[in-house]
Amino acid sequence: MISLAQDHHVHSSFSDDAVSTLAENVAAASARGVAVLRLVDHVRVSTTWVPQMLEAVAGLTVPDGLSVETGVEAKILDASGALDLPPGLATHPGLGRVLIADHQFPGPDGPLSPRVVRESLTTPERARDAVDTLVGATVAAMSRVDRGQLAHLFSILPKIGLTEDAVTDEHLAAIASAAVGTGTLIEVNEKWACPSPRAVRALADAGAHLVVSTDSHDSADVGVYSRVPGILQAAQDR
Ligand SMILES: [Zn+2]
Ligand SMILES: [Zn+2]
Repeated sequence: MISLAQDHHVHSSFSDDAVSTLAENVAAASARGVAVLRLVDHVRVSTTWVPQMLEAVAGLTVPDGLSVETGVEAKILDASGALDLPPGLATHPGLGRVLIADHQFPGPDGPLSPRVVRESLTTPERARDAVDTLVGATVAAMSRVDRGQLAHLFSILPKIGLTEDAVTDEHLAAIASAAVGTGTLIEVNEKWACPSPRAVRALADAGAHLVVSTDSHDSADVGVYSRVPGILQAAQDR
């Protein structure tokens, strides 16, 4: 069973939708007995503050027993797996991980809003093609960064009107194989309660390295899990 004394996806006020400072997140993690904390924030191609964020993390006072790591979260832009990432960050040696996120649907020519995609999935064939495209983009994105981490894998499926039932065993095998080959971590994410127990089991059985995360935007939520334990247990019981 994966240890819950870790949190690999915690936002600070460098993200415009999060409220806590880096130091507040560190204090909250330490108070809850978290051993590994990854501080990450949302970036776009145009983001310029990453050096300041890394400097601020390096300057934090970290209590004994806690390891603090870094990352940025970038959305997959298109079917080729291009990421919404500032230049140089894909291979930046001082950055811990690039979180690969399905915030929009990775269309052939660029990101598509989930609503537009949902309205276009009028036949089972189109739904199958959409999942193929999503999985292909996810696999490709892993090769585009030195050290990746799949954030909330499949969180977009309910937004486009699908469930993980549309994901085949072959899709899961392709993701696991790419994750193992590239050293990409895969989150079991509290905020989105994904991926499903079936996917967690298949990915783990194929040797993928899974980690737990809250995707917290407020330090009150750092290291607090209510949905992940059930996913992990159900995955183990399968
Ligand atoms: Zn996200
Ligand atoms: Zn996030």
